[in-house]
Amino acid sequence: MTREPAEPLRLDYMIKAGTIHSMTGETYRSVGLRGAEIAAVSAEPDGLDDLAGHSTSVVEAGDLTLLPAFADSHEHLMEASRNTLLVPVDQARSVAEFTGMIAEAARGAAPGKWILTSIAWHESNLAENRLPTLAELDAAAPDHPVLARRGGHLAVVNSAALQAAGIGPDTPDPTGGKIGRLPNGSRDGVLEARAVYQVAAFAAGPSQAELAGALGATSAAYAALGVGTIREAMINLDEMVAYQDAWDRDLLRVRVRPMIRVGAELTEDAAVALIDGLGARSGLGDDWLRIWGLKFVMDGGAEGAALEEPYANDPGNSGHLNWDPAVMTRVCVEAARRGWRIGTHAVGDRAMRTLLDVYEAVAAQVGPLPPWTLVIEHGMLSDAAQRDRAVRGGFNVTVQHPVLWNMGSEMLDTWGPERTRRVNPIDQWLAVGADLAAGTDIVRPFNPMTNVWGMVTRGTKSAGIQGPEHAISVGRALELYTMGTARLNHEQDRLGSITPGKLADLVGYPADPLASDPDDLAKLAPAFTIVGGRATYDPNKRLAR
Ligand SMILES: [Zn+2]
Repeated sequence: MTREPAEPLRLDYMIKAGTIHSMTGETYRSVGLRGAEIAAVSAEPDGLDDLAGHSTSVVEAGDLTLLPAFADSHEHLMEASRNTLLVPVDQARSVAEFTGMIAEAARGAAPGKWILTSIAWHESNLAENRLPTLAELDAAAPDHPVLARRGGHLAVVNSAALQAAGIGPDTPDPTGGKIGRLPNGSRDGVLEARAVYQVAAFAAGPSQAELAGALGATSAAYAALGVGTIREAMINLDEMVAYQDAWDRDLLRVRVRPMIRVGAELTEDAAVALIDGLGARSGLGDDWLRIWGLKFVMDGGAEGAALEEPYANDPGNSGHLNWDPAVMTRVCVEAARRGWRIGTHAVGDRAMRTLLDVYEAVAAQVGPLPPWTLVIEHGMLSDAAQRDRAVRGGFNVTVQHPVLWNMGSEMLDTWGPERTRRVNPIDQWLAVGADLAAGTDIVRPFNPMTNVWGMVTRGTKSAGIQGPEHAISVGRALELYTMGTARLNHEQDRLGSITPGKLADLVGYPADPLASDPDDLAKLAPAFTIVGGRATYDPNKRLAR
């Protein structure tokens, strides 16, 4: 019997690098790509030369270190993209600049059209260090409803917006929300928690085609920072269609794994009906766009988290829970039985304890579930008993140091220094055997290396070092940010490391993060990013074919 010689493997790219960290323990000097996948690796720079043909692009990158592209376990790409279509008040540095931007937007809009701002602003960036008032917004845009959402849980609006949403002097607060008043009883335009959605429901946003275009541009901005995959942390069904539109038009520059919101405002029957109506289950899609699962939100953020002990700056307040645990348990049981994965936002320690009650009850009723089926998003405040319960139950955790980085000053005010120091103790989770996935949750393109720097130093933007005892190593941080998220996405056999047969998602850096001073990492930026064998960022044409 004669054997035909095997078809010679011809690489599309052969990259010779200074160091290639596989993230599974090996280091290499060359990697070969063919189509969307990694075809071969070698410990020698010239070890793959036999696989090169006349159509192979040989990339001499001895000055670079290659890593798997970053995979963000929890980020709001849709919200970040939507923000680019909104009034950029996050760039205002005073109340006058803030209202000036709104006045300019109103001048260009038909009367009655809603003026929506970016949500990525904070009053601590304004010289006055306070929210704009209803009167100031009325003066800037008397004829347009203005909705200035700040993050996920607070907004300021003008009189036209209150009127458009049907809110008068006697309208009661919604459950789990607050419509603010001045001392004289009149409205002050500040909306908290559920009240934000009550008004936002009246505001017409951008079209699906506009959103798809924004997803393209914004995903390219993430790719330029070395990101290859984003687990999209919350969308509704219209936004899913916008994602499909972007995917159809080949606009996405990162892989996306969306979570579909199941809102606490729904009745139990309506929540189950929503899940049934999806007509699918976790995992539907392709390598670029694949549904991760469902998203529940148990509590708020730095200002609304459900805490065991009251707020440091508000001793009568210990936050709120959005879900009745018994209702949420029944909805989650139905979801898990239909093959859905569930991620639940739980920031405060009381939310964490309640979520553990829910997940334990779900697991008891549904039976054994694969790892990364019932997921805790954030788990910012936890105690040792809660961490033990999470690990014993097989409930995995997504961790986001950038929230502490960004909000450390607010947390010092609202939670106090002792709790702020022990936000997100990645070391303690790892010490009890937790399986974690790292991400950002910061709603704008954020340098993953700044996140790595934060995880290894516990450094923040404006609150100094918080809880240095909870720092982890660079290698660990990189692993949680690549393989960790691949496990979260049930794709550890397809992504997360530089391994032949996996998808070719790589990023090249002009320094080796594993051999650098951690303080040099915060500003380290990539030379190029490759997703699926294709350059998604290559400013110096290092990968030109
Ligand atoms: Zn989030």
